[in-house]
Amino acid sequence: MNDQAMQQLIDLSCYLGAPGNNYVILGEGNTSARIDEHTFYVKASGTTLRDIDADGFVAVSISKVTAILDDESAGDEDVTRVLKEALVDPSETRRPSVEVMLHALLLRYPEYAFIGHTHPTYTNALLCSQKAEEAAMGRVCPDHVVVMAHKSVFVPYVDPGLVLAREVKTRVEAYVEEEGVLPRAIMMQNHGLIAMGDSPKAVANITDMAEKMSEVIVGAYALGGPRFMPPEHIDRIYTRPDEKYRERAITK
Ligand SMILES: [Zn+2]
Repeated sequence: MNDQAMQQLIDLSCYLGAPGNNYVILGEGNTSARIDEHTFYVKASGTTLRDIDADGFVAVSISKVTAILDDESAGDEDVTRVLKEALVDPSETRRPSVEVMLHALLLRYPEYAFIGHTHPTYTNALLCSQKAEEAAMGRVCPDHVVVMAHKSVFVPYVDPGLVLAREVKTRVEAYVEEEGVLPRAIMMQNHGLIAMGDSPKAVANITDMAEKMSEVIVGAYALGGPRFMPPEHIDRIYTRPDEKYRERAITK
């Protein structure tokens, strides 16, 4: 990874960790960036996004992390060993967060270059509610569709770590199969958001929009319930050429 890409990862991390955004507190959240086809940088365990620097990231092999997801016989007891073996530098003493499995399975898709995982306050208000799926999957205005696409991936609560990573993998694969495109956001019930993109700007935009629209939706539930856009209106915005142009312009 060149210095510019590392700087982009640091800038994205500090942005997502900025206190005023309410996307994360303390050691919450993690970010990653592709180094090349086989490896990526991910936030080291025990670091904070808001003041992270280059020392806060470790280089990890994509395939060595994802091997544990594909190996049905692997369990929680294998995770620590596999994550250690996945370090590009065997003498590395820092460890990636256990959420590195979420980053690795997404970075298997060459279209993604940056990933941002956060626990934003309003997004989690939806995701921790009785109406988590309806609230987090609905679209409420055109900008919402332009930035976050017509649909996100919804993941019900399962045990964090290996079980969650396998569930996310299954649901992302199902989305790609059904929609014919890659998702931009994953909504994990009782947990948080993952935003994926080919640039740090795309990841920041998706996170910003997810949180703003979640605040709108929370407000709408207080006033009789959200008026979600019907599928035909969502499809119209999602496929309109002028909106595609606008989408490219704001995500680069
Ligand atoms: Zn998390």
